[in-house]
Amino acid sequence: MTASIVIVGAGFSGAVVARQLADAGIASWVVDGRSHVAGNAHTERRSNGVMVHVYGPHIFHTGFQNVWEYINKFGAMQPYNHRVKATSGGKVYSLPVNLHTINQFFGLTLSPKEAEAFIASRADTSIDVPVSFEDQALKFVGRDLYEAFFKGYTQKQWGVSPTELPASILARLPVRFSYEDSYFNHPWQAIPKDGYTPIVEAMLDHPLIEVTLNRTVTPDELSTAEHVFWSGPIDEYFSGQFGRLGYRTLDFVETEESGDFQGCPVMNYCDANVPYTRITEHKHFAPWESHEGTTLYTEYSRLAAEGDIPYYPIRQVKEKEQLHQYVQAGQTASRVTFLGRLGTYRYLDMDVTIKEALDVAEEFLASRREQRQMTPFVVNPL
Ligand code: UDP
Repeated sequence: MTASIVIVGAGFSGAVVARQLADAGIASWVVDGRSHVAGNAHTERRSNGVMVHVYGPHIFHTGFQNVWEYINKFGAMQPYNHRVKATSGGKVYSLPVNLHTINQFFGLTLSPKEAEAFIASRADTSIDVPVSFEDQALKFVGRDLYEAFFKGYTQKQWGVSPTELPASILARLPVRFSYEDSYFNHPWQAIPKDGYTPIVEAMLDHPLIEVTLNRTVTPDELSTAEHVFWSGPIDEYFSGQFGRLGYRTLDFVETEESGDFQGCPVMNYCDANVPYTRITEHKHFAPWESHEGTTLYTEYSRLAAEGDIPYYPIRQVKEKEQLHQYVQAGQTASRVTFLGRLGTYRYLDMDVTIKEALDVAEEFLASRREQRQMTPFVVNPL
């Protein structure tokens, strides 16, 4: 260890903090257990020329102007509008649920106003404050749409009943009473022209940043560091002392074909009896490129076991107490800041990850200037 500031994880969180500190004249050591930077946003071009999102689809979208400007400093971002289709009960629909989906599903020709009234009449009005995913779905779209598009997919994706999951997962998806079928609402939506990995490499490319890959570190090894930014799993930092937190991992079956396999980047399979959740056809993430070959990922979700890459924090409603203990431990631990998807055990999009890392770096620099303790960065994950 050469620098006294250690950043564990070379994903967006770690890279942004390292860069902000370096730009302020502070050296850091960034260490990551994997053989590449960029964490789960890592991209690689296959021999057929297709840029593959190695750990599954990553679409950059944000409403934070400062984050948009920040990422653009490190590589060219190509405007990209994400559209998703869903297969349910042997038919293909438009997602997220929009006027087209509603009219297709119910065989109607409703106007926006009529659709709104129609869905409201099917929604469960007895649910006041939705706590679980299922409450949220029944309150906002009613049972038919819930069962067609959310119940099976969510059960496969999370491995638990939607009654056990927080409402916030569904709150990620809009329901629209217009034909707007863009998956995200944000004003800036893009995919890096050369992939995410060169962007993170550019962030880390600074004489005050030392990067070590293929190296796992334990908190004990870091006890002499002046400060540690930990973007690995928070429960791993505390040796699972309050119990292991649950994560889902993904298995991708990669196949190559020629031509256009499915005509869209992502096709979700919402039925419970189809074992996979979705098929991603990576070349559709780069419509500005042209390739004869095509690379597909058929995606299966399962509970992460020891040694698996953690993807999604499960955050079961019943885990609230356990999470609370980790949050408290994180708050009281000195000289360590937890950040990112795994460090804060939250379902984070890339833009929020970058925004929070910028905020964390700013607070660290301010605390140094003002010679005071850094305010702990802790967000309740439920
Ligand atoms: N979801 C669903 N059906 C779909 C798409 C999403 O039930 O066809 C639910 C599911 O629980 C999923 C969540 O909505 O985990 C968030 O979806 P998103 O597309 O944001 O998932 P990501 O791409 O982050 O895996």
